[in-house]
Amino acid sequence: MKELAEPIRRLIEELKRLPGIGTKTATRLAFHLLRQPPEDVERLAAALRDARESLRTCAACHNLTDQEFCEFCRSESRNRRQVCVVESPQDIINLERTGRYQGLYHVLGGVIAPLSGVTPEQLNIKTLLARLEPNTVEEVIIATNPTAEGDATALYLAKLLKPLGVRVTRLAVGLPLGGELEYTDAGTLQHALDARREL
Ligand SMILES: [Zn+2]
Repeated sequence: MKELAEPIRRLIEELKRLPGIGTKTATRLAFHLLRQPPEDVERLAAALRDARESLRTCAACHNLTDQEFCEFCRSESRNRRQVCVVESPQDIINLERTGRYQGLYHVLGGVIAPLSGVTPEQLNIKTLLARLEPNTVEEVIIATNPTAEGDATALYLAKLLKPLGVRVTRLAVGLPLGGELEYTDAGTLQHALDARREL
């Protein structure tokens, strides 16, 4: 890379830090960006900066939002008796694509993973319990990924939630084993929602 000018080497290095981007893709993206008019590149830079600066997590469900509460928590038309627990805000996008779910969400911020040092205390579990307190929630649908850790987290939550008198369900298998919501098509996810089972 020594044959490249320092600014483009730096750009390639920064792009390489993104998930799924290796040297080859980073180099291609860098050269593509440099061929664009300055105002286009400026727009991209501004979008990155604005998204990073203005986004925060919803005070109720930890979804990403630019306001105190996210669009789902603010909505008048969502079913407040159902809360779907997901690992990350990206999972919400995929569940919304099914068009099948009308309830609210709760973003855990990961799964319990003792080997990687993730304990229940590090996840958004306390705030989930607090949301159930007013007794308005009838069903919690656990939509953690169908991995060993996602399953263990689902069981942990079920144990915690069921004594509170709430119905706890889990997305049906049918989701590819070890697969992730992020890579599951809307049809399969729709079926997994419809055929969810009691925990
Ligand atoms: Zn929210």
